[in-house]
Amino acid sequence: MKFHEMRQEDIEQSLNTNYQEGLSTEEVAIRRKQFGYNQLEEAEKQSALLLFFSQFKDFMVLVLLAATLISGLLGEYIDAIAIIAIVFINGFLGFFQERKAERSLQALKELSAPQVSVLRDGKWVKIVSKDVIIGDVIRFASGDRIGADVRLIEANNLEIEESALTGESLPVTKSTNPVNGENMSLGDLENMAFMGTMVTRGNGIGVVTSIGMKTAMGQIADMIQNAETMTTPLQRRLEELGKILITVALVLTGLVVGIGVIQGHDMYTMFLAGVSLAVAAIPEGLPAIVTVALSLGVQRMIKKKAIVRKLPAVETLGCASVICSDKTGTLTQNKMTVTHLWSGGRTWTVTGTGYEPDGQFYTGEKRVTPHSENALQQLLTFGMLCNHAELVTREKTFIVDGDPTEGALLVAGLKAGLSRESLQKKFTIVKEFPFDSTRKMMSIIVVDQNGKHFSVTKGAPDVLVGKSESILWEGRLQPKSPEVTEKVEGAISEMSSNALRNIAIAYKPIKERAVEALVEEDVEEGVTFIGLQGMIDPPRPEVKQAVKECRAAGIKTVMITGDHVLTAKAIAKQLGILKNKDRVMDGKELNAMEVHELEEIVDEVSVFARVSPEHKLKIVKALQNRGHVVAMTGDGVNDAPAIKSSDIGVAMGITGTDVSKESSSLVLLDDNFATIKSAIQEGRNIYENIRKFIRYLLASNVGEILVMLFAMILALPLPLVPIQILWVNLVTDGLPAMALGLDKPEDDVMRRKPRHPKEGVFARGLGWKVVSRGFLIGGATLLAFMLSYKTHPDHLAYAQTVAFATLVMAQLIHVFDCRSEVSVFSRNPFGNMYLVFAVLSSLILMLLVIYIPSLQPIFHTVPIVLKDWLLIIGLSSVPTFLLAGSFFARKKQ
Ligand code: ATP
Repeated sequence: MKFHEMRQEDIEQSLNTNYQEGLSTEEVAIRRKQFGYNQLEEAEKQSALLLFFSQFKDFMVLVLLAATLISGLLGEYIDAIAIIAIVFINGFLGFFQERKAERSLQALKELSAPQVSVLRDGKWVKIVSKDVIIGDVIRFASGDRIGADVRLIEANNLEIEESALTGESLPVTKSTNPVNGENMSLGDLENMAFMGTMVTRGNGIGVVTSIGMKTAMGQIADMIQNAETMTTPLQRRLEELGKILITVALVLTGLVVGIGVIQGHDMYTMFLAGVSLAVAAIPEGLPAIVTVALSLGVQRMIKKKAIVRKLPAVETLGCASVICSDKTGTLTQNKMTVTHLWSGGRTWTVTGTGYEPDGQFYTGEKRVTPHSENALQQLLTFGMLCNHAELVTREKTFIVDGDPTEGALLVAGLKAGLSRESLQKKFTIVKEFPFDSTRKMMSIIVVDQNGKHFSVTKGAPDVLVGKSESILWEGRLQPKSPEVTEKVEGAISEMSSNALRNIAIAYKPIKERAVEALVEEDVEEGVTFIGLQGMIDPPRPEVKQAVKECRAAGIKTVMITGDHVLTAKAIAKQLGILKNKDRVMDGKELNAMEVHELEEIVDEVSVFARVSPEHKLKIVKALQNRGHVVAMTGDGVNDAPAIKSSDIGVAMGITGTDVSKESSSLVLLDDNFATIKSAIQEGRNIYENIRKFIRYLLASNVGEILVMLFAMILALPLPLVPIQILWVNLVTDGLPAMALGLDKPEDDVMRRKPRHPKEGVFARGLGWKVVSRGFLIGGATLLAFMLSYKTHPDHLAYAQTVAFATLVMAQLIHVFDCRSEVSVFSRNPFGNMYLVFAVLSSLILMLLVIYIPSLQPIFHTVPIVLKDWLLIIGLSSVPTFLLAGSFFARKKQ
């Protein structure tokens, strides 16, 4: 018999599991050996060897290797071996860079792996879906992706979207009854839920029947392995630019070779020099360094509790001009405590902090015992009944397992001496309509000891007032009249203005026979309003500062919340989000507006309250139409469209659903707004660092080409020999450029306006900086060469060594200039220790090459005398002083 045909009890037996306790740890270990892990086999990855060889597939590198081979055959062994060695070292470096990039991307993937809530040893725990095993009892709710194939044993309004498997995009309603029939397709199996499908509504519990490649998804796994594109806009722009640079480099090298030959240089020497120059001048390593810089930045973000799921987001982060943030849990702590209760014109306060179930009830100054006050007792009882939260102790502190709002209601009930056990004796829950943030309420149908059926609804007070027929007022039912309504609304406003998050409780008698067929509207319309429970949810302490820093950085913070307008307003004021002139808008106003109308005023609004997730999309669109780059947070399944269409979708690591995480490009491990700010700061920094090393590398390359080109035009000998050019490419261009990628942000990154997303690689003067500095580096090197050649006309190797040292020194000094948009003197030059080490090691390597006798024949160098170092250092530092001069001159003005 198949699982879908079996009764629940039979499955429990046949899978040898227990619906109350789940599997035991020992049993899981035994089954693991038998069934393995719950994962789909991945497509083959590129092997390490292949990756290594792919480093040499570059056309110019192949030409260089061929040229070297020829020079080897012609007897130039030392040159040939040295060049091949350098090419290989370069290849290794490229290989390690790419491996590192790949590994960190893989690590990222694992960090954001989906989790599953399973029952093990009698407790609900969260585990990564890979560890789920056959016989496990798992639970899921709206927004979760199902972790394995399961047979359902509980389904509350459960709807699952199975399009990944069946192609049917409408969600399927699920139930737990056995299904029989011939030739059933997956779509017909109403009592099964399948790996990879998505819960769109309700909640449920199921027992795992198959895992990994044995699941329905596993059978079609090959078809769904789609690689996501991981290149960022900048990487693509650099690729484009790379093509142009290659052409320019080749043309210029061609010129160098051509003019050299015309000027009477030997053809073979010019060819080798030309190819070396081309290899050095083509910034083939640039994309890899960019990837490494991006992924290192991503690692730094992880330390700050932000996980970037899509690499392009790193860049977009730096452009963000608006952050739309949820209130509860992101701006506030999501640690709720009921402090006020209201019913029928009376108010009670409750003492106690956090989730500790210890506190007293007061009316005014007078202490009361809740069970002696009917309305209060009913308010607390129903708040606890219509509730899934559990209170647990961990390390001697009380924490809530479940929704914090419900946790607060539970704790309020416990403070009044109520208990789950005693409630379970008196009431049986027969049906549930789970909470969703569009209805803004949740209901249950209950049978009491006398067999009477009634429903309990809890939810947003202003919504529930609208649905009430009568109001409980001092123990008596009053039909809803304008006067009573006004009083209730007055109480809601008063509590909300004090930043309280309020939940209203209502009930309704139900006819027993009708229960099965009832839908939400039947129980949630025409209810009796009992009263309110108001809870505090303190703002996160670090948020106020973060909002302020964002403002300074030209980034506006907008609060979007499902909570009451006045509660939202009060908290937005406390956090500095709502300023005097800003507007507050609610869901009703939003409903009445088209996107283009919203667009007109959206810049003035900083709080959207009582909105549904569906409104978020409208807000994103309006902001984007105004030219904003929008970061949008969200946690629920309905938030996914807005998260997806925003420029930076931000999901919550703790409370977020799988669906919201999957649509996001950034996940906050701590659900904290301040983390978005840190991520933006890091995003800006990464981009600036990439600019820094583009500036450094390209200016160096321009310098290298120009020195050769001008020498040829001036009919001079070659100022640098091929191996020296390759050395510069490997050492000077390699380490310091990497170190620039690790630079700390300049002090004012968060005081600049956001970058324009379409900004080109050479924007903000970078192009000019590259070309002018390239000219200066080339010029300084050529001058050093000429002066030295003039004094030692019969000792070309000496002049070449001086030129080599000048080129290296000019670049190593330039690298410090690259750290700042203004001048080297605007920052502490020792602020980046990686760079200091990189420069020092390049210097030492240069000195070794010049002064170690055994290396001299390889690199065609000779020892330089001390006085010439003055010339070298003087000439190579001229550009920096010129730049600094203009910086100070501007500062004076
Ligand atoms: P944010 O959108 O900032 O996260 P929020 O939590 O208030 O804020 P929703 O989760 O959409 O937004 O909740 C909307 C309203 O529904 C709340 O203000 C509250 O009155 C009510 N509510 C929240 N949680 C529950 C629940 N578990 N049961 C019943 N009603 C709830």
